[in-house]
Amino acid sequence: MNIAQNIEDINSKLTPFQAKLVAVSKTKPAEIIQKAYDSGWRRFGENKVQEMVEKHEMLPKDIEWHLIGHLQSNKVKYIASFVHLIHGVDKFKLLQEINKRAKNHDRIINCLLQIHIAEEDTKFGLSFDEARQILASEELKSLENICLVGVMGMATYTEDQAQIRREFSGLKSFFDEAKTEYNALTNVDFQEISMGMSGDYEIAIEEGSTLVRVGSAIFGARNYQK
Ligand SMILES: *Cc1c(COP(=O)(O)O)cnc(C)c1O
Repeated sequence: MNIAQNIEDINSKLTPFQAKLVAVSKTKPAEIIQKAYDSGWRRFGENKVQEMVEKHEMLPKDIEWHLIGHLQSNKVKYIASFVHLIHGVDKFKLLQEINKRAKNHDRIINCLLQIHIAEEDTKFGLSFDEARQILASEELKSLENICLVGVMGMATYTEDQAQIRREFSGLKSFFDEAKTEYNALTNVDFQEISMGMSGDYEIAIEEGSTLVRVGSAIFGARNYQK
């Protein structure tokens, strides 16, 4: 498994679309991440707070850490000093907590609203209307230590490419609408659409993704038994 080569190959497909790659290193040991780092890569994604904290402590401090998984309010404090982007904000209450912890560290934490675009109801996320409610709320204006920089979504796990495309395209439409409507707010600055994983990132970039989250196509299959 040549990780540096895999990253390069994926990047060459993203470049024409100006999308960026988040290398999803969850379950992979720090030594593997270090190897990718040594080849020049700096942007990594993790889905568990504790795992991300441990890796942040072990690895060089100029790594850009993306939290891509579900985040519980009581865990925000562990990552508030260093996280680069939180992809999975799905509650206003969580934004309030992120704001509070960011303020303690005198920084602004960038966040994405996670939108439920898949057919399955097992995945987290806001409906488009719930996301609109957050963006339009008076309370949002008081959160000076967060910035909403876009949206994140996961398509249905299916062979049906047309369905995946429809779901991504729906997220892009919502992004465009919200950007027009809300970017005038000081803590809303829509720029990023986080969509696309190993199996569907090529469709995602065609539909306007700016950030793809790719794990197994870079690092190989994950072993959850360990
Ligand atoms: C694990 C994970 C990915 C990467 O999945 P792959 O199929 O291995 O590329 C992307 N996004 C989220 C939210 C994940 O949890």
